[in-house]
Amino acid sequence: MIMADCIFCKIADKEIPGKIIHEDDLCIAFLDLSQATVGHTLVIPKKHYDSMLTADPEIIAHVFKVAQVLANRIKERFNASGCNVLTNAGEAAGQTVHHFHVHVIPRYDENDGLK
Ligand code: 5GP
Ligand code: ZN
Repeated sequence: MIMADCIFCKIADKEIPGKIIHEDDLCIAFLDLSQATVGHTLVIPKKHYDSMLTADPEIIAHVFKVAQVLANRIKERFNASGCNVLTNAGEAAGQTVHHFHVHVIPRYDENDGLK
């Protein structure tokens, strides 16, 4: 289901470009436009849910499973030391795009990889 004027629905639907690093039947993962650190990735369900709070639990499980696989891959690829895997739900919690997404943010010992 596509929500009009939802930027992540448009990325999932390939209406606008995203640097896609994973795709399957249920979700898609792409690089965050403003890289908090090198390799910062977003995993989103293809179906629109405003946030994790209203998403189907099976979709939540799938999105986080994919986030785990990608976190390991990204960590290895960019030689990161650790990572944050998180989701913001609601404006008060810092959510700016209201389509459920999980951030995978690699962490580095020094300079957060931004050299
Ligand atoms: P939030 O604050 O809602 O948890 O995170 C939204 C994230 O989406 C931000 O980190 C922001 O940089 C990213 N973002 C917003 N618009 C776009 C876009 O058009 N393309 C991509 N790749 N990322 C976006
Ligand atoms: Zn959407």
